Amino acid sequence: MHILIDYMRLSKFFIPTLKENPSDAFFPSHILMIRAGMIKQLTAGVYSYLPLGLIVFRKIEKIIREEMNAIGCNEFLLPALSPNELWEQTGRLDAFGDIIFRIKNRDLILAPTHEEVFATIAKPNLVSYKDLPQMWYQIQTKFRNEARPKSGVLRARQFTMKDAYSFDLDYNGLDVSYKLQEQAYRKIFTRCGLKFFSVEAASGTMGGNESMEFMVESDAGEDIVAISEDGTYASNIEVATAYPEIVERKNTNLPYEKFHTPNVKSIAELADFLKIKDKSRLAKSRVFVIDKQKENQENEYILTLVCGDDEVNESKLEAILGTKIRQGHPDELIEITGADAGSIGPIGLKSKNIKIIADLKLKDSDELISGANINDYHIKNIDLKRDVKDIIYKDIRVVKENDLTLKTKSRIRISKAIEVGHIFKLGTKYSESLGVKYLDKDGKEQLIVMGSYGIGLERIAAAFIEQNNDDKGIIWEGEIAPFKVHLISLEQGIISETSDLIYNNLKEKNIDVLYDDRKDVRAGFKFNDADLIGIPLQIIVGEKFLKDKKIEIKIRRTNERILVNYDDLINKIVELIR
Ligand code: ATP
Ligand code: MG
Repeated sequence: MHILIDYMRLSKFFIPTLKENPSDAFFPSHILMIRAGMIKQLTAGVYSYLPLGLIVFRKIEKIIREEMNAIGCNEFLLPALSPNELWEQTGRLDAFGDIIFRIKNRDLILAPTHEEVFATIAKPNLVSYKDLPQMWYQIQTKFRNEARPKSGVLRARQFTMKDAYSFDLDYNGLDVSYKLQEQAYRKIFTRCGLKFFSVEAASGTMGGNESMEFMVESDAGEDIVAISEDGTYASNIEVATAYPEIVERKNTNLPYEKFHTPNVKSIAELADFLKIKDKSRLAKSRVFVIDKQKENQENEYILTLVCGDDEVNESKLEAILGTKIRQGHPDELIEITGADAGSIGPIGLKSKNIKIIADLKLKDSDELISGANINDYHIKNIDLKRDVKDIIYKDIRVVKENDLTLKTKSRIRISKAIEVGHIFKLGTKYSESLGVKYLDKDGKEQLIVMGSYGIGLERIAAAFIEQNNDDKGIIWEGEIAPFKVHLISLEQGIISETSDLIYNNLKEKNIDVLYDDRKDVRAGFKFNDADLIGIPLQIIVGEKFLKDKKIEIKIRRTNERILVNYDDLINKIVELIR
């Protein structure tokens, strides 16, 4: 077990603080974790945790461990190395692709997550309905060859995850486990002091059907979320839906007509050419491909139609089609439609082997303009109801700022967020591919129903700093603060002796304290370090003590200074911590 350091003398404690911002860091958490001596980069996306950083990570770990244990989740520790073969069985060696770190001289990988490995433990052990349900977790290092590791530990190639897995008899059981994890997650993030919210999310390479992400709103985030003003709706943009403002029919019933549009290659150019502002009737067409080369089958093609001022949401489209898609290459576009990207449309397609999916906003719309599938030509007066056979209407657009929610018609705003946790209802994907089964009451074989639940430890720390900092440094608060009190001794002699006494008193009271007892360090330097490291309360022992036995307490967040009599100090500190 890890022992949390709760007191330390700065003269012995290694905190290499930096005055200047590192040149390659752009977000507060990255800059401040480096400047406060919490982390040090070894190579892209790989960090050493220095003593101060480790204290914070351990505190987060402790909170997570307590909340997992509280819901009856068993702690394991699985290996990071894992045989290729296991990942081939679930198809994830391919699905993860370059994200997986492969070992060159062995058929092993460094695991990016542990569904497969936990399932291999479940398989010979959870064999009867009597063995279920179970919840298991570990807190362990994960390896992911992220393409663009950046923003410090927010996106690293080696990071710590708490990953938990539930094993249930059926989907009702899964609902119960999922709910327990969700509640534990809310407690964890609350105890960590994060302002967070949960959103509906896509399941990605994990498989499964329902998932929820826990988000912290921040410019440093790489996720885009849609949040409603009335607080009833929050969703990852990947799956977000909004009220579809239908492009109303005009019922003019004009025949469609081809017209020359020289050098018009985009919707913006088309609007300019036509001298119109409203782009909703300019139906934007794109071609996507379900690539079946690997399976030695013919590729499938999809033409999408959305309003000119909308974009296709590729993750929603993938979810509708139930498979991965890619954009059509230029030569494929010519082959399938007859034209380049700028002149494609639903009418006069060269190939019949193409499925047309239009966004719900265009349901049965008319008077539309789209490409003619001949370069430099468009067609006007398109009536989708009249002119396009076998068209399918689905919600395929990206939700935008000012859209309205489906249920409450509340205004939606779009924001950036950091994903700190993600819970999935996996279902039977892994039980099926790895044969994880149990015998039910009637002696019949059934697949175990699984869930998977992840939290990034370093991301919690970084997200906290994103939300709690100022121009001087970090502002810690609550349970994950590395220390409660930063005791600053300003001079030698009697002041040092008094500070030593205060230090010992705080230790006796079990108050986590960092003691700046460094000799020959200027006061200004000590103050700057204290503000940078950001411990919630500072105790300053200096001249005011010599003059009239007063000690100064500074509250880091508010900059408020309180002068107290020496004799009242400890009581005041206890009160402030409370
Ligand atoms: P992202 O979309 O940010 O790559 P993910 O969906 O791949 O995240 P999961 O596989 O659900 O993440 O992992 C669970 C948790 O692990 C995430 O919620 C996040 O907190 C953390 N995590 C994932 N990837 C990283 C990373 N590269 N660096 C740090 N933490 C990470
Ligand atoms: Mg990822």
